[in-house]
Amino acid sequence: MERTLSIVKPDGVKKNVIGQVIARFEKNGLRVVGLKLATLTKAQAEGFYAVHRARPFFASLTEFMTSGPVVLMALEGEGAIKKVRDLMGATDPKKAEVGTIRADFADSIEANIVHGSDAPETAAFEVGYYFNALELI
Ligand code: ATP
Ligand code: MG
Repeated sequence: MERTLSIVKPDGVKKNVIGQVIARFEKNGLRVVGLKLATLTKAQAEGFYAVHRARPFFASLTEFMTSGPVVLMALEGEGAIKKVRDLMGATDPKKAEVGTIRADFADSIEANIVHGSDAPETAAFEVGYYFNALELI
């Protein structure tokens, strides 16, 4: 069993597809073990995406991630990290495989609907960044 952190980004909440994103996870054997709506502060978004601090899109990305409410969720399942990444599709929706969340719902490489942790270490950091032990089942 593995845990990972996923986010329905502000564009996903605005498009009213929270349920459709979560349904794809559930249909593929993942279980929601933590869930909340939040509007991130700039500092929270910057801390979360700290690995991208030097990238040219960092300011724009953190602006976008604070532009409206997001859904934060911890998911559990066998191979959960890779499973979520596969279901999301490539970062750029134009390059994402048909049938993936980003191919179906996303507008651009930045506004790409969904986040998923990319490795065990980042998953542990990211779940702990948004959830304390009492908020996880
Ligand atoms: P995420 O970390 O959100 O799951 P990812 O792992 O597919 O996405 P990263 O390379 O970690 O992609 O980039 C983090 C986020 O930064 C992307 O999801 C996207 O919102 C934004 N981003 C990435 N590359 C670009 C870019 N070239 N221009 C604008 N925004 C970008
Ligand atoms: Mg990433």
